[in-house]
Amino acid sequence: MIKIILKWFDNDFASKQSNINDDTAIDWKRIIPFILLHLGCLFVLIVGQSTTAWLVMVISYLVRMFAITAFYHRYFAHKTFKTSRRLQTVFAVLGATATQRGPLWWAAHHRHHHIHSDTDKDAHSPTKGFWHSHMVWFLQRKNFETDLNKVPDLAQFPALRWIDRHDMLFPVLYALFLFILGTVIDLFFPSLGTNGAQFLVWGYFVSTVLLAHVTYSINSLSHLIGKRDYDTQDGSRNHWLLAMLTLGEGWHNNHHCCPGSVRQGLTFWQIDVSYYLLRLLNKMGLIWDLKYPNQLLLEKKKVKVHV
Ligand SMILES: [Zn+2]
Ligand SMILES: [Zn+2]
Repeated sequence: MIKIILKWFDNDFASKQSNINDDTAIDWKRIIPFILLHLGCLFVLIVGQSTTAWLVMVISYLVRMFAITAFYHRYFAHKTFKTSRRLQTVFAVLGATATQRGPLWWAAHHRHHHIHSDTDKDAHSPTKGFWHSHMVWFLQRKNFETDLNKVPDLAQFPALRWIDRHDMLFPVLYALFLFILGTVIDLFFPSLGTNGAQFLVWGYFVSTVLLAHVTYSINSLSHLIGKRDYDTQDGSRNHWLLAMLTLGEGWHNNHHCCPGSVRQGLTFWQIDVSYYLLRLLNKMGLIWDLKYPNQLLLEKKKVKVHV
């Protein structure tokens, strides 16, 4: 039992312990927390609901979606802006609360996706089926480890390596924080009709599962549905609804066209909330050197007639 728990909280230990030979197999013991995460949502039937609980669920979703798109994706994976070493660590911790593994794991797999998009080597191409691209790929043994060779620029920082190795710790601390916050609010504002259990179930379990599946849909649906504005070597597409739900990530065809750009919505009507917030952080002096797409390249790759 101790070995299984250590496997969840220390990725280096998990790698050494693994005795699964088939790389495509799923390490069921390892993914028990992922299953429990989904089952945890059923507790809404026991804890009930309140306006405050719904609000916490939405805020928890939005803050962590921003952490995934702006920090995990646009900063760690693509380096589309610069920040200080201290803030980089804060960004990594915030991103880790989203329960989508550590920043190095996320960035390494994502960089691999951009190099091999929709080919046999792509870990999550929908050409291998919707469910494979959506979630089966990261449950497979072969995609469990972080390939540090793909993220040498990030792996040089011991703090980031530590967060990546113990990524499970941060969702647990975040869930505990929500439970304590709800308990304190119940104590001081009983008229709100909420409590620690509601904060935990709605603010962590329900919010995290929604956040997870909407994020996964960028790997699955964003390579299947929507419009192609730019001629890229993959099946990436732009879809307004996915862009709204992901704070700008749904402009996925734009992103595959110019992955180094901090901005993914490229016209005034392509709403890109993450970009607007990153501009705000830039104005506050917290991030700098924001990168933008090459206009000549965009013009060249623009699809003239939509079919
Ligand atoms: Zn993609
Ligand atoms: Zn990307």
